[in-house]
Amino acid sequence: MLPIAPNTVAEDIADVTADVTADVTADVTADVTADVTAGIHGLAERVAYRYAGAERKHRFRFLFDPLRLLVQTGFIERYVAGGNPFPPSVEIDPSNVCNHDCGFCIYHSMHREDRRERLSREKLLSLVDELHALRCRSILFVGGGEPMTNPHTVEAIERAAALGISTGLVTNGSLIDGSHAARLKRAATYVRFSFDAATRDTHLALHRRDDFDRIVRNLRLLAEAEGSGTIGTGYFITDANVHEIFANAQLVKDTGADYIQFKTYSGLPTESKLHERVLHAVERAIDLSDGNFDVHVMDRIFENHCFQVRGYSRCHFQAMKTVINADGSLYLCAQKRTDPAGRIGNVHEQSLAEIWNGVKRSRVVNELDLVSCPYCVHDRQNKSIEFMARFRAPHRGFY
Ligand code: SF4
Repeated sequence: MLPIAPNTVAEDIADVTADVTADVTADVTADVTADVTAGIHGLAERVAYRYAGAERKHRFRFLFDPLRLLVQTGFIERYVAGGNPFPPSVEIDPSNVCNHDCGFCIYHSMHREDRRERLSREKLLSLVDELHALRCRSILFVGGGEPMTNPHTVEAIERAAALGISTGLVTNGSLIDGSHAARLKRAATYVRFSFDAATRDTHLALHRRDDFDRIVRNLRLLAEAEGSGTIGTGYFITDANVHEIFANAQLVKDTGADYIQFKTYSGLPTESKLHERVLHAVERAIDLSDGNFDVHVMDRIFENHCFQVRGYSRCHFQAMKTVINADGSLYLCAQKRTDPAGRIGNVHEQSLAEIWNGVKRSRVVNELDLVSCPYCVHDRQNKSIEFMARFRAPHRGFY
């Protein structure tokens, strides 16, 4: 008997085409076939494979992989067994003030003149101590607003580092001077600039502040400073800056930074003409990856998904990480920062342990309607933890 040869791609496409023909007209079939083989899907697949090749050689491979959570084995085992351990990782917003004014910022409403909350030096440092006592292993200083508008953020990072806690800082980069650069490079595990233009004009149009040159200078200061901290940038792609993707990546690489990350809005599909431009530009930028510089591309740039179905029984991620805002509120997750229904307590009224084990948090978690959540960047993590917690399938010896 002749061996059965695997289908060629052409044969697979012919099979798909035949199936589709059964249900729809020949015209539609032709469109589908053309789209799968030659349209945006083909382009996305080609660029994604090119990226996969570069990604396997990254110095900081898996830096943005959601499945990093799964290496927190002891913590996850306790959670899956029904415990309520305090999360090993927390986000702190030192300030709700921002010196930039980006129209695309999802936290824009928190920067209003009538808010302007900042955590005091005493509160910020005592939170670090409290988190250390709760065995927290990493703190990301982020926003909310721009974390460097709080004059005590660098001191808090140093305090955490001295206690053995890993720290990250996500910043627009405009307020980091020479003395900060040296201190941050020594104390922080990483510093990431939100930096998404290659020219003063585009930066001004996006961030509504004319400080492009200062940000480039500050990025270079950090990259050249002594210390072990990783320095990178995040480029949020829109139709206003897609044309500067490659030039920005080249500029970031020239400063001596370690990596650049490209991302788009999650859950908002990029329309096809823009998507095509994004893919072509990202493809060029990927080629800048080498032994000293990683180009990271978020999966959503290739997939361009627009919805998810949250089949899990509850949100598990809210138990994996919490957010402490500059007004003292604790939130279920970063994406609930602007949603009063996601507030689980306030550090000006209770300790972190009291909030975590308290009635209010338990009520908010139990009443959480997953359908009301936005497109969630923690979907894969929730699915993974659900699987680990609920795996009772028959035929369990098969996989
Ligand atoms: S958006 Fe909803 S599902 Fe996602 S982490 Fe937050 S609470 Fe959980």
